[in-house]
Order: sequence, then C-alpha cells, then structure tokens
Amino acid sequence: MAQELEGKVALVTGASQGLGRQFAKTLAGAGATIVVASRRIDALDELAAEITSDGGTAYAVRLDVTDVASIDAAVDTAIERAGAIDILVNNAGLTVNRLIRDTTPEDFDLVMDTNVRGAFFVAKRVAAHMGERGGGKIVNLSSILADFVMPGVSAYCMSKTAVSQMTRAMALEWARKNIQVNALAPGFVDTAINAEFFESPAGQQIIGRFPGQALQQPENLDSALLLLVSSQSDHMTGLTLRVDDGQGLGAFQAARPRPTD
Ligand code: NAD
Repeated sequence: MAQELEGKVALVTGASQGLGRQFAKTLAGAGATIVVASRRIDALDELAAEITSDGGTAYAVRLDVTDVASIDAAVDTAIERAGAIDILVNNAGLTVNRLIRDTTPEDFDLVMDTNVRGAFFVAKRVAAHMGERGGGKIVNLSSILADFVMPGVSAYCMSKTAVSQMTRAMALEWARKNIQVNALAPGFVDTAINAEFFESPAGQQIIGRFPGQALQQPENLDSALLLLVSSQSDHMTGLTLRVDDGQGLGAFQAARPRPTD
C-alpha cells in the first residue's frame, strides 16, 4: 500500500490529536498531501511540521465544524492551498458523558452539532468539489456505539447511529458522481475522548470483558482506513466497517472466566 496515495490530497478534520492525528500521519506515509483541520491551529502547525520533516507535504487550516461558515471557508482554503481534495476523513467528534436524566439541551445540541450536523455539512461541501473533479473518497467516523448502547453516552450513541445512516444516504446520492462514502466504526480506542472513563473502575471492568482485554491503539485502524481511501475499495460504498478487535462480541458477556482461562 506504500505510496498508493501519491498525487492525492486528503483533508482530515479533528486532526489536532487522537485518531485524526494518526490518520493524517498514516495517509501522509502512503504518499498523500495532507490538509489537517481543527480548532487548535498551534497543534495543527506542529503536526504539519512533523509530517513535512518526515518527507511529506501538509497544510494546517482552522476549522470549527459546528459553524457552517467556518466549514465553507476551511474547505475553500484547503482547495486553494493543496490544489484539490480527493479524500475526506470526516473525523472531528466529541462526547458529553451524562446520564439521560442529567443531559441538558445544550449537551445534546453540542454532540449532535459536532458529530452529525458538522460531519454532514463538511461532506456536503467537499462532495460538491469532488463531483466537479470526477470523484473521491469519503470516510465518516462512526463507532461501535452506533450498534450498542452504554449508560451515560446516549447522545453520543445516537449521533454515531446517525453517522452510519448518513453514510448510506450520501453513498446513494453521490454514487453517480463516483464518490464512495463509507464509515469506519472503531471499538474503544485509547485516546483523550474516553481516557477518564477507562481509567475509572467501571471502565477497567469493561476492558476486562473485551476478548482482547485491552483498548485499541489508534494505529490499529490504519489498514481499514487505507482500504477505504484507496482504489481497492472502488466497489465498496455505504458500508459501516467495524474494526473493534471483537469488543462488540464480548462487551455484554457475563463476568466469568473466558473459555481459554
Ligand atoms: P479526541 O477527543 O482525541 O479527538 C477529537 C478531535 O475532534 C480533536 O482534534 C478535536 O479538536 C476535534 N473536534 C471536536 N470538536 C470540533 C469542532 N467543533 N470542530 C473541529 N474539530 C473538532 O477523540 P478521538 O478518539 O480521536 O475521536 C476521533 C473520532 O473518532 C470522533 O469522531 C470519535 O467519535 C470517533 N471514535 C472514537 C473512538 C475512541 O474510542 N477513541 C471510538 C469510536 C469512534
């Protein structure tokens, strides 16, 4: 797969840390020019410099996905600086961890505005450009929690189910534009979004029930990402590809010794 993406430009949202940062570096390693976009321009500048010093090409662009004017401006700037966008990794996202009884309208709106509305309008703007260019690849970040629920993250779970359904709708509407739209649905990965929970006793207990008894690491998603952005997936569209190390298989098993124990 090395250099498979030579000549392509990838826009990665929410790239200042966590999965977005890993995705940007992985795509750069495969030869793509990268535009990293998020709210913290200092962190993005650092990442762009790191990619450049590793021999790649990267640009940093400020983006707040909750603001459609910011989305349109960031996409225009990305196209102006990098020349085009062939690949979108629609990664920016967040959670508010509250039980339903404690969830405020503001909590709910923040999660939906970022994870659903934000991703929708980023993809809409980028797809218009891709359509004019003859095609492209869009990867939306869904989650294992599109299919399962946990207490305390209801709005997040709902938002990720919406991302998977949004992916199918976009895939259908943009198929004739040669734009493949798929969702990548990680299991629980070791990043800032869930660090506090997984350090708690309840989080540790859940990790103990995963078949692999561990969180995933961001680089465990590399091969699935590379598949979804390369020509190898030209006949795959509208899918939600779960890459969870079997966490979904074991999350709800009773707390008893594993068969191999
Ligand atoms: P993270 O908190 O480390 O990173 C989230 C990124 O999104 C940050 O760069 C943040 O600045 C950016 N972001 C948030 N709001 C934004 C906004 N309004 N505008 C622009 N950028 C914004 O979390 P992560 O684990 O790297 O999450 C990345 C994506 O992967 C998210 O969509 C998340 O839901 C999804 N995901 C994560 C996991 C996991 O276990 N870590 C599992 C499944 C899915």
